[in-house]
Amino acid sequence: MVTLLHNQECTRCPALVASRRRIVHGCGDAESGIVFIGEAPGRYGADQTGIPFWGDRSGRVLRRMLVRIGLASDETASATLRCFITNAVRCCPPGNRMPTPDEIRACREWLHMELDIIKPYLIVPVGRIALREVGMRYLGRDPGSIRALHATVLRSKRITILPLIHPARISRADIQAFVTAAQPLIDERNEP
Ligand code: SF4
Repeated sequence: MVTLLHNQECTRCPALVASRRRIVHGCGDAESGIVFIGEAPGRYGADQTGIPFWGDRSGRVLRRMLVRIGLASDETASATLRCFITNAVRCCPPGNRMPTPDEIRACREWLHMELDIIKPYLIVPVGRIALREVGMRYLGRDPGSIRALHATVLRSKRITILPLIHPARISRADIQAFVTAAQPLIDERNEP
């Protein structure tokens, strides 16, 4: 698994510097062209493990989905990933609250650095904050409600966007809808 950024010194967000255990940058397969973007490291997951979507219930739900669509070899910490997983904000907010607009803005540079290196063809924004960040960058607008756009294919000239309701709030039916929508996008890319 590859990590593209290693900075552990960033202090732009005082409240998050006080609450974080570490800065959690993205990791996974930077050559895959597929990027999942969450909101922020979870207090009981990535903030402890240092790996996005690893160690808590949300992580388990997401990793199970990745196995189903062929983007993870298994559900263990040593699984081989065929995607890159990162967050819009890299430090865990106090009390697991939502990041503020100022914190999202402050952390945008790190996310954009990863996206500039990877140049993805498919982005999965996980949750409302990531959907807005991805929409503003690639569509030039806020696409709207994550619930309304869940598992809906959005296309720009450069990439395909497939929004995903956050695993902390997702239903079985929503998981199935996402798997059904994601599979052809992944298979399409793999066809000779
Ligand atoms: S959330 Fe991002 S910008 Fe804010 S302190 Fe952490 S790494 Fe820096």
